Amino acid sequence: MKTDYLVVGSGIAGLNFALKVAKYGKVTVATKKEIIESNTNLAQGGIAAATRKDDSIKLHIEDTLKVGYGLSNKRIVEILAEKGPEAIQNLISFGVKFDKEDDELHLTTEGGHSMARVLHSGDSTGREIEQAMTECIRENRDSEVFENCFAIDIIVKNSKCYGARILDIKNKEIVDIFARATILATGGIGYVYQNTTNPEIATGDGIAMAFRAGARIEDMEFVQFHPTTLNKLGAPHFLISEALRGEGAILVNEEGERFIVRYDKMGELAPRDIISRAIINELKGGSVYLDIRHKDKSYVLDRFPMIHQECLKYGIDITRDLIPVSPAAHYICGGIRTNEYGETNIANLLAFGECACTEVHGANRLASNSLLESVVFSSLGAQRAKRYLKNEIEAMPQQREAAIGNVVHQGLRDIEVDLRKAMWDCVGIIRTGENLNLMLKKLRKLERRLDSLDGDRVNVRFFELKNMVTVANLITNAAHIREESRGTHYREDYPTVDDKNWLKHICLEKRGEKLDVSFA
Ligand SMILES: Cc1cc2nc3c(=O)[nH]c(=O)nc-3n(C[C@H](O)[C@H](O)[C@H](O)COP(=O)(O)OP(=O)(O)OC[C@H]3O[C@@H](n4cnc5c(N)ncnc54)[C@H](O)[C@@H]3O)c2cc1C
Repeated sequence: MKTDYLVVGSGIAGLNFALKVAKYGKVTVATKKEIIESNTNLAQGGIAAATRKDDSIKLHIEDTLKVGYGLSNKRIVEILAEKGPEAIQNLISFGVKFDKEDDELHLTTEGGHSMARVLHSGDSTGREIEQAMTECIRENRDSEVFENCFAIDIIVKNSKCYGARILDIKNKEIVDIFARATILATGGIGYVYQNTTNPEIATGDGIAMAFRAGARIEDMEFVQFHPTTLNKLGAPHFLISEALRGEGAILVNEEGERFIVRYDKMGELAPRDIISRAIINELKGGSVYLDIRHKDKSYVLDRFPMIHQECLKYGIDITRDLIPVSPAAHYICGGIRTNEYGETNIANLLAFGECACTEVHGANRLASNSLLESVVFSSLGAQRAKRYLKNEIEAMPQQREAAIGNVVHQGLRDIEVDLRKAMWDCVGIIRTGENLNLMLKKLRKLERRLDSLDGDRVNVRFFELKNMVTVANLITNAAHIREESRGTHYREDYPTVDDKNWLKHICLEKRGEKLDVSFA
């Protein structure tokens, strides 16, 4: 099969790019589940942009750089902030409705922002965006969306990308789709960790595929842990948005003490890494809670209807009860190294959104900058995308294979549980050289166990698990190499920032069967 642009992933980054380039040529979007299933769909807090008169692009830049702990690329941050208001208009043009107050866009604040600049749609901003974009792409005649189509690998020869191998899950068939440009917009890696806000789809497929094909992967040690997720036995780590703290919720420990002021003078709005570590510390003495009971009930119900409903399912009424919280893996700052146009070191391969690393976040991400990043850089990439139309579509001999389909195998399930638990225990919020070494050994064993299940090769879970092990290896190696603490990466054995030796990015590449490490 042939197309002009093959986009893998139907979150905000993939759909924005697809909608923008459909006017140039044929767009094929392949997505592994239903179109709507994505991290985007779960985003709560909102999207940051300096849209108000008393805000400024300069302040947004300053706040982003500060949270990035010296590793954000200043030029890229400037582009992000400058293009912010345009990106918002872009979303509004797709039909996204942001909350308003007195005819002005309502803005909220979140950790690390020096003022209110986060636009939102209640507490389900991501769903509003994903639904609006889904409607647009369904109406678009120049694009087609293949749901339940899992990209196994990209097709690369001599550092040039020709398309991707896709497993059509329903028809149980593997097809090669050849394209003039291939775009990875496959989202995050959170599911590699036992405790995460991410859905099951977040297995880092794009990063793993790109790595296998020779792409440069950067900043993988910087996994952001969200400080406040529901901490109730039997309940998922459902995100309790930072916007609650932005709107006045406080953190208290078992004794009812507002402990966070002991850790940072910004209190509840300190950067996420500081709050996560503070909570982990307080959890040693008992539970930690978010408290928004002092706010007017009707206000809470109106502002946080989804969080209220979700917590009620587990017997917590946020207008009356304390909300037990703990941190969970949330976001990867690193990924496939790209420039601002999404270009990678492989010709005709682009990457956008959470799977990409433009270096905009550096060592930590400012809240609500990731939806923005996805729109800004996929729009910039789309502006240049016409140039790919001159590429010949080079179809290699078509390989069609029957696939077993979505078989769930107990052996795979066991490996998955082991991997996710070990990543949480050894490469979580507080890391040590000893635990990272343990994890590297564990990963070698897990790889061998996975290889021994070869008979089930053609199975989505098998491919995902291979990708998860690859991504876990990249995170663990980078975390092991970085002998300092910076942003989201905290090493108990190297607890301070070391600008003299470590004000640089760790880049990982595959050379034969070896991992090549370089610094940028
Ligand atoms: C609970 C939660 C709340 C959040 N809240 C906010 C917020 O308020 N503000 C903010 O800025 N950010 C927030 N984030 C982060 C933000 O949502 C994500 O970073 C952003 O949505 C990523 O968009 P994306 O398009 O890159 O990836 P995604 O939206 O995750 O989309 C990835 C797509 O790729 C597909 N895919 C993956 N692998 C394959 C494969 N092998 N083959 C085919 N398809 C594949 C998936 O099915 C999916 O369609 C939140 C994240 C979570 C989990």
